[in-house]
Amino acid sequence: MNYAMRVMMKMTPTCQDITAKISESLDHPVSCPDKIRIRIHLITCSACRRYRDQLVQITNLVSRLSDETGYQLGDEAKEKIKSTLENESSAGAD
Ligand SMILES: [Zn+2]
Repeated sequence: MNYAMRVMMKMTPTCQDITAKISESLDHPVSCPDKIRIRIHLITCSACRRYRDQLVQITNLVSRLSDETGYQLGDEAKEKIKSTLENESSAGAD
């Protein structure tokens, strides 16, 4: 692989990197360069856009449920939801 290709690969995160960053960004703020990488990737990648939308919907639903019922979803359950979505979005990527 030549130098230019390696630089390009470094600049362009994979879907796996992006979905991990998206999950991370919901738990705590991500750095500005990461935010920009996520934005740029989401413009070009429908699979990651779908993943982000689903994750946001679930997060909203869970926080609404816990507001209404006082029920808290455990970290383990949250991780399960995330990994299920990650598998789905990588399987459905085109
Ligand atoms: Zn992607």
